[in-house]
Amino acid sequence: MQKAGSLPLIGAGRILPKQVKVITMKFMSTQNHAVQKTLASALREGLAADGGLYIPTQIPQLTLADFSPTTPYPQFAAQVLKPFFMGSELGSALPMLCQRALDFPIPLNILVQNTFMLELFHGPTLSFKDVGARFLAECLCALPSSRKMTILVTTSGDTGSAAAAAFYRKKNIDVIILYPKGQISARQQHQITCWGENIFTLAVEGTFDDCQRLVKSAFSDPKWRHFNLCTANSINIGRLLPQITYYAYTSLKFYCDQGGAESLGYIIPTGNLGNATAAYWAMTMGFPIREIVLATNANCVISDYLISGHYKPRPSISTLANAMDVGKPSNFERLQALYPSFTTFQNKVRAFSVSDEEIKATIERFYQKYQLIICPHTATAGFVRGQVSGDPWAIVATADPCKFETVIEPLLQQAPPLSPSMQTLLARPTFYQEVGNDLEAIREKAERYF
Ligand SMILES: *Cc1c(COP(=O)(O)O)cnc(C)c1O
Repeated sequence: MQKAGSLPLIGAGRILPKQVKVITMKFMSTQNHAVQKTLASALREGLAADGGLYIPTQIPQLTLADFSPTTPYPQFAAQVLKPFFMGSELGSALPMLCQRALDFPIPLNILVQNTFMLELFHGPTLSFKDVGARFLAECLCALPSSRKMTILVTTSGDTGSAAAAAFYRKKNIDVIILYPKGQISARQQHQITCWGENIFTLAVEGTFDDCQRLVKSAFSDPKWRHFNLCTANSINIGRLLPQITYYAYTSLKFYCDQGGAESLGYIIPTGNLGNATAAYWAMTMGFPIREIVLATNANCVISDYLISGHYKPRPSISTLANAMDVGKPSNFERLQALYPSFTTFQNKVRAFSVSDEEIKATIERFYQKYQLIICPHTATAGFVRGQVSGDPWAIVATADPCKFETVIEPLLQQAPPLSPSMQTLLARPTFYQEVGNDLEAIREKAERYF
């Protein structure tokens, strides 16, 4: 493994002359590597102007011996992310940002021998999206900015609630959430609409795709310029970076517990490939991850690509794991930038597509065998566990099953227990307005509200 000190971007291990400029980590667009921005610009812009996604100009290589699994998680996370924050005005705030954003447990529990559950859903809105949304919110609030900004998000599931909770009552930031009216479950709707104050929620007469189109056109519409729009979906690098840290932490902990004799593999339920890309970055940085396997629902663009070598995005189909209903995974470009040759991509990436029938059967089997209720997304990874080797694997659990009671109750003849955070959210009153599929009407309502 390369030593951290030998990398030009880190700069340690050499005696720097006085007053030398600190080397800054830059972020480049996947479409054009010559476009290079600071972390702060990449966070503010979200998507690069050329339509590409920001990636670090190089993935830092770390020395394992510098890390200890006994370091408390938020401090450990700050240590992992430090090279990405090199030279940024956010650098000195990083430990505090991690302390505030990563303040809930992320346990790695054993299920049976060689099978573990990495539970990412103990945040305020009960999905792994809380990790990225809370960290992004802390970063954006810590940036010196004179202008108020507006986060515009559309959601079919967990992103909207995570963003609302993360930005609720944050100073100088307003949030507009669009969701397709009548097309999300009652509990999902409640989680998105129970905020108010700086969070303005609109039920749009239209589909999820209509909402996405509206958001896209707002970004290029001069009448929206004074909102100073910013995005909080998984294309924003600020959501991806903190997700590296739970793979780093749990892989190192497992490795040390085994005395360095064995390392853990991860099976990751995936849609837009955001959570998975973070895992590949953690592995590239040098954390002891044996292997990464992707589990998709019936939307099988990745597994098809691995067979044919041709990347063919297509319209998404709806499945029981609805937060993964993606036909054109936005982070595919980031993964391809990491493994540009198809042969390397094929060597590093494995993917299985899991049907609704297999999801249902897995939810039933996990309950019968282990008395464990899992959500439909986690069930795709649970199914894939049966398809891979006997080595140690962590099934990545992305949401609390109580968010998906409408899928689970008919299968198990019982409702998943309500977690305390869900009870807190369900006790809050809801606020939202309805609007047509019309950008002008949305703007007028938002101007009146804020
Ligand atoms: C968003 C989401 C996923 C998919 O994550 P990606 O980063 O888009 O691959 C999986 N499970 C749940 C519960 C989600 O909310």
